[in-house]
Amino acid sequence: MNPECLFVLDHYNDYISGELTPEKANRVEAHIKICPNCEVFLGKAFKIHGRTLGLLRVPAPETLRTSISSLFDKV
Ligand SMILES: [Zn+2]
Repeated sequence: MNPECLFVLDHYNDYISGELTPEKANRVEAHIKICPNCEVFLGKAFKIHGRTLGLLRVPAPETLRTSISSLFDKV
C-alpha cells in the first residue's frame, strides 16, 4: 500500500475534526487530489461525520465509487 494512503488512513479522523496541524492537513489534501481511492474514502468518512467535503470538486467515477463502497461495506 502507498505510504501516503496509510498516512491518510492514520490521520483522517483528526483531519475531519480539524485537529491536524496545517502541515499534515496539507499532506492529506495533496494526496487525495492524486489518489481516487483516498478521495472516495475521505468523502465517505466526512459523510459519516455529517460534514461535506467542500474541497473535493471532482467526484470519482460512479463505478469506482460503487466498488469501493462494497469493499468498505464488507469490513
Ligand atoms: Zn491514497
